Amino acid sequence: MTMKQNLTGLDKAGIRQALTEYQIADKGRAMRAEQIYRALYIGGAVSFDDVTTLSKPLRGVLSESFTLDRLKIVSEQKSVDGTIKWLLSTADGNLIETVYIPEVDRGTLCISSQVGCVLNCTFCHTGTQKLVRNLTVGEIAGQILLAKDRLEEWGKPSDKRLLTNIVLMGMGEPLYNYDNVRDALLLIGDGDGLALGKRRVTLSTAGIVPMMEKIGREVGCALAVSLHAVNDELRDELVPINRKYPLKDLLNACRNYPGLTNARRITFEYVMLKGVNDSLAEAKELCRLLRGIPAKINLIPFNPWPGTKYECSDWEVIERFADYMNAAGYASPIRTPRGRDILAACGQLKSASERVRKSACAPAVKIPTPPPQTVPEPQPVL
Ligand code: SAH
Repeated sequence: MTMKQNLTGLDKAGIRQALTEYQIADKGRAMRAEQIYRALYIGGAVSFDDVTTLSKPLRGVLSESFTLDRLKIVSEQKSVDGTIKWLLSTADGNLIETVYIPEVDRGTLCISSQVGCVLNCTFCHTGTQKLVRNLTVGEIAGQILLAKDRLEEWGKPSDKRLLTNIVLMGMGEPLYNYDNVRDALLLIGDGDGLALGKRRVTLSTAGIVPMMEKIGREVGCALAVSLHAVNDELRDELVPINRKYPLKDLLNACRNYPGLTNARRITFEYVMLKGVNDSLAEAKELCRLLRGIPAKINLIPFNPWPGTKYECSDWEVIERFADYMNAAGYASPIRTPRGRDILAACGQLKSASERVRKSACAPAVKIPTPPPQTVPEPQPVL
């Protein structure tokens, strides 16, 4: 039996090519490709029955060779704060996670780019899971299609949409899956389809220096950089890829990121680890390092996971750090942890996959919570 080809993730030219290879619909092939493309990315079609612009017989013929299958939902969890986490299975049975984070004025989908990760950042739970494989274009874009299904987004006018922004901050290092990530971002940005343009998409990297300028030039998405330390010695430990691409090279690549202006700044992510990187001297050094780079800083309270040696900085310490940075002229919101109760927050994304595989519950984790009087207003993710 020949495997059917899944058209999800193909652009118009790709669909046309697929139709050619299967010698289907010679006449008006470009038109057929256009109809399928629009049904898939504007209409939310999940099978050829949904491509109602095609004749019934043609739908039947096409469904013998092709599918429009989605990733499979293994579980869907909703946090008390509205965050939704999906554990999804690929066609070959790999598990990935996707998180939807609703905010007052927008809704952000955090998507994965790889199954597992090679980076081994010491404070990141995903990093303790070995890389299994890169996600395909269809699997990267497919996370958005699936979220749109579940949020009942198809056909909604744009001002009513719940999903407005995309961040590549899930599992994996997006710049280590460069071609597929680039193609997925170009696809989802297409104004004739999903229309989530480059201004609504932020790619987060641990600092794969040689690929940074390229993604800026070829896609033009916003960039977030996982900095987390202000000297090489500590960054070598926290983000080991720093040994290959040290701070000096990383900051140079940031300076050269295409399209940077004060309105299009790089977001520097800085996880707050108690007694490790949270001193005022480090805040001061951070200002010095970022001088001349249009930058904003996202202070991320560390999200603990079972077995980690790190603790989250005390709330006063995070605020003191933020105050210093803000006074120095750097917008430095403290990222409100979202979805911690369902292990959906940054760096916690390994847990559910393991939990499902082992059919056991993760041990309870003690989560430091800010005292109520100092809880900041919900901040935008970026
Ligand atoms: N590999 C990319 C994409 C992951 S993005 C990158 O490193 O940027 C996820 C963000 O969450 C990164 O900034 C990462 O450093 C941060 N993070 C990882 N583990 C965390 C944790 N336990 N608590 C808070 N932030 C964490």
